[in-house]
Amino acid sequence: MIIDGRSIAQRLRDRVKGEVEAFAAERGRPPGLATVLIGEDPASAVYVASKRKACKEVGIESFHRHLSADVSREEALELIDSLNADEAVSGILCQLPVPEHLDGAELTGRIDPDKDVDGLTVVNAGRLALGLEGLRPCTPSGVMVLLEETGVELSGAGAVVIGRSNLFGKPMAQLLLAANATVTMCHSRTRNLAEVARTADVLIAAVGRARMVRADWVKPGAVVIDVGVNRTGEGLVGDVDFDGVEPIAAGITPVPGGVGPMTIACLMANTIQAARMRPAIART
Ligand code: NAP
Repeated sequence: MIIDGRSIAQRLRDRVKGEVEAFAAERGRPPGLATVLIGEDPASAVYVASKRKACKEVGIESFHRHLSADVSREEALELIDSLNADEAVSGILCQLPVPEHLDGAELTGRIDPDKDVDGLTVVNAGRLALGLEGLRPCTPSGVMVLLEETGVELSGAGAVVIGRSNLFGKPMAQLLLAANATVTMCHSRTRNLAEVARTADVLIAAVGRARMVRADWVKPGAVVIDVGVNRTGEGLVGDVDFDGVEPIAAGITPVPGGVGPMTIACLMANTIQAARMRPAIART
């Protein structure tokens, strides 16, 4: 079975749209998402544009702030502070990477944790680790939705995550653990990676190496989630050798059209969640 991320993401966006309408009717204004883009990195500009487009589609108000590449650290932090204080802004994201003279972690860390819709602040990472309510990183949340919608039984399943980044691998492992999977995390120092991968009922690859996971790494009947995005001469490919693995897997996500569309859909879901966390302001 090919797991169709585009249609599952569309269903999530439709659900968020309904929730946004209900929120706006109740609170007198829609949730708002502030996107902060610093400098002229073309890929970042494309990502931010697609996030703003998604906001428009689901009815979230989009506040966009574009700072020049030579903005000072103080000015960038002041902008985050002003967005933290702005009641119309429910969620804030600072598009990474930022220019070299700035520290992306410092800027992200300045975001109010209750507006941190990327789920990347220390507070939200801590809430996830402790099993407390909070905003979760969008891509691993998207993978959880794909697994749920596909009816994959996680409780008691063996899950192997290849990749241990703060952005994806670590929060992915925490979410799987919270769903009662038995989780193994792998990385560049893991010995016998193929052998470990072959134990997985659910195998998740987030490395950034084109077609690294081959058919002989996959247990027949496993569910394979490919998070990797690699630009090659043949176009975008994942970390999994799709053609080799698809015939033996019970389910597999394609690249593109698998995990990718879920990330922005989960950003929209996080924004309505953040908006609901804020106290209602009396209308005058
Ligand atoms: P990252 O920060 O570069 O982390 C890569 C991870 O892979 C690291 O933990 C690294 O191990 C591990 N690794 C590298 N080479 C390895 C090898 N030969 N064997 C085993 N593990 C190896 O990357 P990331 O941000 O997590 O992203 C990973 C991939 O997912 C990228 O292709 C990225 O584009 C994609 N991605 C897609 C989305 C989406 O929305 N679709 C979102 C996020 C990321 P060490 O820790 O030991 O170095």
